[in-house]
Amino acid sequence: AAAVMDGRECARALAVGLADEVRRLADRGGRAALAVVSAGSDHGATVYGRRLRRLAGELGIGHVARPLPAGATQADVLGVVARLNEDPAVSGILVLRPLPPHVDEAAVFRALSPDKDVESVHPENAGLLALGVPRFVPSTPAAVFHLLDTWLDAAGEDRADFYHRSRIVVVGRSNTVGKPAVALGCAREASVGSVDVWADRTGGLGRHTRWADVLVVAAGRPGLIRAEHVAPGAIVVDVGINAVTGPDGRTRTVGDVDAASVAPRARALTPVPGGVGPVTDVWLLRSTVRAAARRLEPDTGRTLLEVP
Ligand code: NAD
Repeated sequence: AAAVMDGRECARALAVGLADEVRRLADRGGRAALAVVSAGSDHGATVYGRRLRRLAGELGIGHVARPLPAGATQADVLGVVARLNEDPAVSGILVLRPLPPHVDEAAVFRALSPDKDVESVHPENAGLLALGVPRFVPSTPAAVFHLLDTWLDAAGEDRADFYHRSRIVVVGRSNTVGKPAVALGCAREASVGSVDVWADRTGGLGRHTRWADVLVVAAGRPGLIRAEHVAPGAIVVDVGINAVTGPDGRTRTVGDVDAASVAPRARALTPVPGGVGPVTDVWLLRSTVRAAARRLEPDTGRTLLEVP
């Protein structure tokens, strides 16, 4: 059966290093704070926002919530972003998705100050990542690779060698997960043999995914990946977070991978919950702390690289 890639343990270790960064920042008179902008009351977004607030509190990082009602206009959202851009106490800004349909998400992303855009959704930051010189690495793709790196190290694999000879297939091509995961696969020092992306819903999925040594799934479709989609011995990273209600009326969180069917075939698998999610949370706060630390550096006009 597949080894379990424990995201909680990985997140704990990352948080220990981050607590140290927070202390060093404080010694230099700096303080980090994450601002979270949301509109409406999406369940997933609400849960995520709450988790970040708690974790920020534990780590001594500031947290500013800016919830807007579902009826908030584009101008309302842009107004909140503009004020946070100017607020010297805020070092990172996260815009929670989904925004209400009448709000132009891309326009909100464009309005973010690139120096506070810790999720790299502003076109300048997305472009820098695509060019292999990121200012910030978006937290979910970063968590995918950090979890992989950590697991490979623990398994005694030569990481660079493993990546060079591996084919990574990403299922899903959203601007926030799938696409930046592909970009990061290309940008990393331990460069990947090949990185493919697959996001066609019309079928033929297995033909692509069975090719993968590492399969990263971010489609938001519970149970999408089953044993027949996975090569024997593949490493499977399940990014999906889906709330499903069972016949007993209870709601559970599941990923995009049918773990019961895939586990006997895979070499390793991330659980949901407890896989990519906890690492994502810490990574986002880490970027927020680094954004604050950068503001204490003299401005050289150069982008400070951040390739994990
Ligand atoms: P999204 O809906 O924006 O994008 C989904 C992508 O998957 C699209 O490109 C779509 O074309 C593709 N897709 C959908 N069905 C498919 C199918 N049957 N076959 C192939 N491709 C298909 O979602 P997102 O924001 O990228 O998030 C994806 C999932 O990851 C969601 O479940 C989300 O909750 C989860 N998520 C997890 C984390 C984390 O930290 N673990 C962070 C962000 C998102």
